[in-house]
Amino acid sequence: MHKRTVDVAIIGSGTAGLNAMGQVRRAGKTFALINGGEPGTTCARVGCMPSKALIQVAEDYHRRTTLGRYGVDGHEELTLDLGEVMEHVQDLRDTFVDRVLGNSTDNLGEEFIQEYAHFVEPTLLETATQRIRASRVIIATGSRPLVPKTWQDLGERVITTDDIFELTDLPKSVAVIGLGTIGLELGQSLHRLGVSVAGFDQLGYVGGAQDPEVQRCALEILGKEFPIHLGHPVSLAAEGEGVRVTAGDQSILVERVLCSIGRVPNVEGLGLERLGVPLDRRGIPAYNPNTMQVGDLPVFIAGDVNGDRPILHEAGDEGRIAGYNAAQGEAAAFRRKVPLFINFCDPNIAIVGARWNDLDPATTAVGQILFAPVGRALIMGKNKGVLRVYGDKASGRILGAEMIGPKGENLAHLLAWCIEQDLTVGRLLRMPFYHPVIEEALQAALYDLYAKVDAKNQGGLVELERLAG
Ligand SMILES: Cc1cc2nc3c(=O)[nH]c(=O)nc-3n(C[C@H](O)[C@H](O)[C@H](O)COP(=O)(O)OP(=O)(O)OC[C@H]3O[C@@H](n4cnc5c(N)ncnc54)[C@H](O)[C@@H]3O)c2cc1C
Repeated sequence: MHKRTVDVAIIGSGTAGLNAMGQVRRAGKTFALINGGEPGTTCARVGCMPSKALIQVAEDYHRRTTLGRYGVDGHEELTLDLGEVMEHVQDLRDTFVDRVLGNSTDNLGEEFIQEYAHFVEPTLLETATQRIRASRVIIATGSRPLVPKTWQDLGERVITTDDIFELTDLPKSVAVIGLGTIGLELGQSLHRLGVSVAGFDQLGYVGGAQDPEVQRCALEILGKEFPIHLGHPVSLAAEGEGVRVTAGDQSILVERVLCSIGRVPNVEGLGLERLGVPLDRRGIPAYNPNTMQVGDLPVFIAGDVNGDRPILHEAGDEGRIAGYNAAQGEAAAFRRKVPLFINFCDPNIAIVGARWNDLDPATTAVGQILFAPVGRALIMGKNKGVLRVYGDKASGRILGAEMIGPKGENLAHLLAWCIEQDLTVGRLLRMPFYHPVIEEALQAALYDLYAKVDAKNQGGLVELERLAG
């Protein structure tokens, strides 16, 4: 067995691991980047990018359903070649993966070990062919789809996001089990691509929204597109070539099941028990989310493996923090960014800042706008949804927002940046709002919020700052 000693060993070459590597390299430290499984990152291979490619095609094709409203003829005759759709998604996916590899691991020599690793001791790792002694170790092993054992026994009838982008054609019917972000995005896309889709979730809501108004609106809008069954656990049974899906008094037969009930951390066989610290029920050790350090060990944990904020830019940040601290031999604490979650279903569901369930109703004011009358949304033929902005009643500081609406992805970004800057609703109303843009929906919600907070703009006009003198 080949023996090596490095400053930093990074387990996992996904987004977190690669960002960690960037910091270690910048500090001029020696390192080993160890990746079992396919390189190229979950994001590019089976996550963000192929899912957005599929969503784009589905949205473009779905657009035909509104074309007849304003005299575009022939839209009923548009057809879809599903084989070509999947080939297009796969081509784009391959481009993104090649780009990741080209910018990262392709240029590495013996630093890149393409094998699975496990801990022998907190600073000693082993792969199939090597023993690596590292001053510090970063765990960035990501996560994988959760599929209950009994469902795994149904073989190819139950697919996950690891399989779906590999399909060369789409099934005629699919039950999507789990209507969080992934299930909702893919379920709606499959439906729009002509697959008969039924969605199931044992929870009473979809897409992760907590605000009851947003939940209600999301169910109303999305439930009109394809059937959504909530509030009952699902059981599956093989029937002929297909699967019988049962939940409460619902029972349907489908060709395939898309299992999107959650993800589990990749810690099996990693030997985390050899770190000598307690592990939680998911097998994850306690760590500091500002330093990413595990206890006071020379070990850091970053990205989806810890399950805290399983989205790309957070995996990148956690990798940077872990990489910086591992390289510098420090435990520097970094402020984490305002939470921002976007579900790319149409209309987008977006959640930013403080969560609804964590707000104190006694000190929080809520501004609201329905998208129905918003001019630009009407012009786009997408005037559905609701935007709710939360502010601190006394100071007017923006705390957070939830929404389902057109271009929610952009509105949520604006709000996240404002919350990062500690801006108040009064200050925001003094920003320019072009006409006619979707941001006018945000402006309207802000006016509603402004009326409910104590802190008011001085100087005569709400929207304009009076010059001195
Ligand atoms: C369908 C889908 C859609 C998504 N869409 C979005 C989106 O739109 N926006 C967004 O922000 N996020 C999205 N995400 C989430 C985003 O993709 C993840 O947050 C991000 O990719 C996590 O990166 P990571 O580095 O933690 O893990 P990964 O990229 O999974 O990297 C972990 C690596 O570690 C390797 N590994 C595991 N165990 C070992 C071991 N023992 N030894 C060595 N190597 C090991 C794995 O093989 C893998 O290569 C999506 C995810 C999915 C699944």
